[in-house]
Amino acid sequence: MTAQLIDGKALAALKGQETAEQVEAFSRRTGIQPSLHVLLIGDHPPSYIYVKNKKKACDLVGIKSVVHQLPFGVSQEDVIRLIRLLNSQEDVHGVLVQLPLPEHLNAQEILETLDPKKDVDGLHPYNLGRLLMKKPLLVPCTPQGCLQLIMSVENNIQGKTAVVIGRSLLVGRSLGALLTNYDVTVTLAHSKTKDLKEISSKADILVAAIGSPEFITGDYIKEGAIVIDVGINRIFLKDGMSCLKGDVDFKEAKVIAGFITPVPGGVGPMTISNLLINTVKAAQLHMDNILYKS
Ligand code: NAP
Repeated sequence: MTAQLIDGKALAALKGQETAEQVEAFSRRTGIQPSLHVLLIGDHPPSYIYVKNKKKACDLVGIKSVVHQLPFGVSQEDVIRLIRLLNSQEDVHGVLVQLPLPEHLNAQEILETLDPKKDVDGLHPYNLGRLLMKKPLLVPCTPQGCLQLIMSVENNIQGKTAVVIGRSLLVGRSLGALLTNYDVTVTLAHSKTKDLKEISSKADILVAAIGSPEFITGDYIKEGAIVIDVGINRIFLKDGMSCLKGDVDFKEAKVIAGFITPVPGGVGPMTISNLLINTVKAAQLHMDNILYKS
């Protein structure tokens, strides 16, 4: 069999249209343009590209975006001061700290300084706690994107089994909680998991969020499974060129899986799409707050 491709680019474009309509309706109703502020710290080349793509996506749907470029050596105190300032500004709706941060900075403390209602990455303990309590407010973008991709090909996931490989808060752990909220039976696997191949090959849904190129070969996959490849690995070729590879060996997987996401063009566009969705939601939360106060 040949798996059906789950086209993240097309789904993100569709969601982008919906977001653009929501932005327009919100602006018409409130006279306010939703805004996203991104902190870009240091000179990590992939982060530059990610932030540029986020800015472009904001422009397309009518969200105002501002990038705060800070030098590599910026102090923890200065980052915290900027976040507190953005927290206090009425015209700032979403704040995102582009990860990873330089090693001298304490990412946890920085993320915890964010106002949870402006935390469009959904990584503040308040938002993660709400997710665990099945009362989500702002959900991490990549896990939300994975769920949308899965549900674009299988609407009824209740009772399905999923193996999520990778347990970072950014992806695996949050996705595990999200899928559990949808009544999926989840196994969260990691580098210490025993018999990973055997466990994975029984899953209706297999998500790879490892950061290891083509780690998931055909024998990890159940016939007909939905395979979501979160991994983005840059591979440098002999001729000085480079290419992106996922965590799944696409060639092997596509003859066994029922559905599969490509890399690039799968999870990546959905992550950005959900950042836009969360920014509009944050702007709405801000307005609700004002109405509630008055
Ligand atoms: P991470 O924080 O490095 O976590 C990697 C996870 O993989 C860890 O939980 C680790 O287990 C597990 N792991 C590593 N080797 C393993 C092995 N041999 N067997 C089983 N599990 C193993 O990475 P991340 O931030 O979650 O990102 C994962 C990948 O997704 C990366 O390629 C990243 O670039 C990509 N990503 C893509 C998007 C997107 O929008 N498409 C967004 C975010 C991340 P331990 O916990 O035991 O160490």
